[in-house]
Amino acid sequence: MISASKTTLSTTANDLSGKEVLVLGAARSGLAVCRLLHATGTRVTVVDDSKTREEITRTLDIPDIAIITEGYAPDKLKAAVLVLSPGVPDTHPLATSFLERGLPVLSEVDVAGRFTSAPVIAVTGSNGKSTVTTMIHQMMAAGGFRSFLGGNIGVPFADNVLEESKLKPVTPVQVVEVSSFQAEHLECFKPDVAVFLNLSPDHLDRYPGMEAYGQAKLKLVKNMDETGWIVYNRDDSFFHTAFTGQENTVPFAFEPAEESLFTCESGWILHQGERLLPLNQLPMPGSHNVMNLLASASVAHLMDVSESAITLVMRRFKGLPHRLELIAEIDGVNYYNDSKATNVASTRAALASFDSSIILILGGSEKEATDYPELTNLISNKVKRLVTYGQAGLRLMGIFQGLVPVHFEREFAAAVEDAHRAGEPGDVVLLAPACASFDQFTNFEERGDTFRRLVLAYQRETVHA
Ligand code: ADP
Repeated sequence: MISASKTTLSTTANDLSGKEVLVLGAARSGLAVCRLLHATGTRVTVVDDSKTREEITRTLDIPDIAIITEGYAPDKLKAAVLVLSPGVPDTHPLATSFLERGLPVLSEVDVAGRFTSAPVIAVTGSNGKSTVTTMIHQMMAAGGFRSFLGGNIGVPFADNVLEESKLKPVTPVQVVEVSSFQAEHLECFKPDVAVFLNLSPDHLDRYPGMEAYGQAKLKLVKNMDETGWIVYNRDDSFFHTAFTGQENTVPFAFEPAEESLFTCESGWILHQGERLLPLNQLPMPGSHNVMNLLASASVAHLMDVSESAITLVMRRFKGLPHRLELIAEIDGVNYYNDSKATNVASTRAALASFDSSIILILGGSEKEATDYPELTNLISNKVKRLVTYGQAGLRLMGIFQGLVPVHFEREFAAAVEDAHRAGEPGDVVLLAPACASFDQFTNFEERGDTFRRLVLAYQRETVHA
């Protein structure tokens, strides 16, 4: 079990005190780390290539932080440490100048981790991070912790650490979603529990290959010792290879195994071999969501949360918006918004969640090195009509034509309309696009909100017809 009164991480904060720190990137996590460092008395300068001084001043609202927005020579900027925002790759001239000078380049997560006194639970993986981070947060809260939820989801970790320092709660815990970008520059980050969900192709424009992508995630545990725990997906070959046989690891998987805390058997979730909850009482569809629950429950158990608190969350957690979210049932057709399914693995998980009779909407902007034909089997077995749209739409149509009826529309709204018209009682209209949204939307949320708005308008038309 993990002790809730750990204080070790806060002692390493001294590494930065009295030093001059440059923060590159004035987006959310960059500004959050400025606020945290400023509050701890560290001298901070923020550098951003695309924002104006006025924009940064307005958002940051701390008068004595220096701001550099243009006309700087990267190798002339002097500081002891560079904090690199996750959106900025380390090929940026300022990052390379620090790396070449042998100076530390850190991520916001690494810096924030130095200032917390709470146990830290860090969650990574290609898919399911936000879902699992939220599930764990809810289980921790149900178990009586003052849980802070943040990182790559919602509030930056640095803001939560600052909040924790002000509130000084009795039983704090920091639950942090960590993307591979955020994990790239971890120097002394040492979570108490690290969760590894799965690894599948994504972000291959940033990494030379899957190995490099997986290794970035493994940086999460490079400082881990016998005081911490690793919770990993035993069914994932990369993490299975990385962790099987290591001390202080807890695997989760469908098949029962000796070292697992939570598994499944004969339609039940088992806790240490005992039946806990029938799968048909879980409010979320999809076996991937069962895996997410097994991971979350394993963490909660390690943190000493009671079985009843864990079960309560299992029964109640309905999932996050835009992740296999049921929007409406119209004339016997169910409409699911899985706009966050922006890679092949998440679309596969969505398709596997239904028996058949799926009208699938695929498309958007294509990501590098995406292996769409991996969807072939699921599409031929479960999809009755495929509607493709957007920048990737014609290519997708070419790949799957002949397998099932395929229809292409350039515009997203027209694609949703086609799917709606084709629906018959018993069908599922599923937006699980396997592509990013940026060709027609600002982000996946905007695409999902548009889908919701269109579907709810069809529902109103039906009611008034
Ligand atoms: P992330 O934060 O890693 O992007 P999310 O929880 O936001 O993860 O989910 C992203 C997408 O992946 C959604 O389409 C969701 O339905 C799907 N998903 C969630 N959990 C898993 C999982 N364990 N395996 C595969 N896909 C998943």
